[in-house]
Amino acid sequence: MAIDVERYQQIVKELTAMNTKLVAVSKMKPIEEIQELYDLGQRDFGENYVQELVEKAEELPKDIRWHFIGHLQSNKVKYIAPFIHLIQVVDSLKLLQEINKEALKNKRNIDCLLQVYIAREETKFGLDEKELNELMTKFLSSALQNVRIKGLMGMASFTENAEVVKNEFRFLKSAFDKYAALTTPDSQFTTLSMGMSADYKIAIEEGSTMIRIGSLLFGSRS
Ligand SMILES: *Cc1c(COP(=O)(O)O)cnc(C)c1O
Repeated sequence: MAIDVERYQQIVKELTAMNTKLVAVSKMKPIEEIQELYDLGQRDFGENYVQELVEKAEELPKDIRWHFIGHLQSNKVKYIAPFIHLIQVVDSLKLLQEINKEALKNKRNIDCLLQVYIAREETKFGLDEKELNELMTKFLSSALQNVRIKGLMGMASFTENAEVVKNEFRFLKSAFDKYAALTTPDSQFTTLSMGMSADYKIAIEEGSTMIRIGSLLFGSRS
C-alpha cells in the first residue's frame, strides 16, 4: 500500500479553490504512510483512537495538527490534552468540562467542535437539534475559559442516495449558520466539518469548511 499522490494533489487543488481544509484521516494506517503525506505538505491528520494517536504523535513531526474524530471518553482526554489541535466530537457538557480541566492543567486552550447527529442510521454519535441547543446555551453561560467551540461536525448517512446526504448536510449548515450568528462579533465559530471520501463533493457544495478523508488517500481499511 502507498499513498495515492495524484489523488491527494487533485483533492488539495479542489479544496484550495473552495477555501476548504483537508484533514487526512490516518486511523489504522502506518507511520510511514503518514510521513509520506506529510512530506507532500499535509499537516492536518485525523485519528479515532486515543492510544493509537498518542503513539503516532510521539513518533511523527511535532508540527502536525492532530484532530480527534473518534468516540472520546472523558477519562481519556488527559492523554491527548497536551498536544491535540481540534477535538471534533464533543457531545456533552461533561466532556467539555473535562477538556477544560485538562487544558488548564496543560496551560493551553483546546479547540473543539460539537458533533451533531444528522444521519438516519442509529449507529452514529452526536447531538440532536434540541441537545445541541441545550449544550450551546449551557456553554455560553458557563465559565469554561480554556475550551473554545469553533463549530460543528457531522457525518451523513452511508448511502448512494445523494439527495439524502445533501439534505443532511443542509440541515447541519443551517444549524452552523444559526450559532455562528449567535456567537458574533468576535466569533471563533467558523469551522463546519463535514464530508468524507464518499460524499466530500456534496459537502463542499453545501458549505463545508473542513473535510475528513481517509480511504481515498490511504486506500481502504481492512
Ligand atoms: C474514518 C472516518 C473518516 C474517514 O472516512 P473515509 O470514508 O475513509 O474517508 C471521516 N470522519 C470520521 C469521523 C471517521 O471516523
